[in-house]
Amino acid sequence: MIRQTRGRGINKPSGLDAALSITTAFTPFGRLPPYEDLEGDDGYPRYKYEGTDPNTFTNRALRACRDTGLPLVYFIGVRRGTYFPVYPIFIVGEDSNRSEFTLWFNWTEVSRSDSSTRALEKRYVLRETRARLHQPIFREQVMNAYGSSCAVCRLAHTELLDAAHIIDDSKPHGDPVVPNGIALCKIHHAAFDQNMMGIREDFRVVISPRLLHEVDGPMLKHGLQEMHGSRINLPRRVAAHPDKDRLEERFSEFLNAS
Ligand SMILES: [Zn+2]
Repeated sequence: MIRQTRGRGINKPSGLDAALSITTAFTPFGRLPPYEDLEGDDGYPRYKYEGTDPNTFTNRALRACRDTGLPLVYFIGVRRGTYFPVYPIFIVGEDSNRSEFTLWFNWTEVSRSDSSTRALEKRYVLRETRARLHQPIFREQVMNAYGSSCAVCRLAHTELLDAAHIIDDSKPHGDPVVPNGIALCKIHHAAFDQNMMGIREDFRVVISPRLLHEVDGPMLKHGLQEMHGSRINLPRRVAAHPDKDRLEERFSEFLNAS
């Protein structure tokens, strides 16, 4: 994680022709990060020109990256003053009508025929963008909001924690935003995904009846059954709390499966 004070921008050191990094500032919780707005119809991430003039020295420096295949670091704000680095990222195209560059994780493999991108390629592009751009940022923001501890059992080992989606990210409204996320340990994440544990819109934990009366070892007893009825640990910022509509929708799925 990198702390710096600059906001959005293109970093081109003097003496070099090409840029070294691009930056997108932090977006407040609940709003889609800017990179989400900057995806083209083909699914590839975009980066807007700096200013309106396509020939500023910074925009020319990105064009130099496109022409030479030089990699960039993409710094994405995950909280105020803190940036998550995505590396490498390449400039693989430019649309001057829309004042933007096309970004990708590999310079050589990308298709240049934006308009004729096929459905199969688009699916691949969206999957890669989700895994390499959205998911790490989402995880970083959710961990930060929940103080890197499980909302259900308070386990505080980052290696054992996941940023769980309330509404699955395969659905159109399964956005990678903090109000659609909860920090859960691996066991509670799996229990949540498998509908063995639900979370009501009043933030109470509900353990499925089929588990509640089972007799087994300490993990079932202390890790799951004893959590029934407890209230999840919420982020300090109300804007980062789980969205009640999403919880309600997800809880009805849990009830149907229980
Ligand atoms: Zn847990």
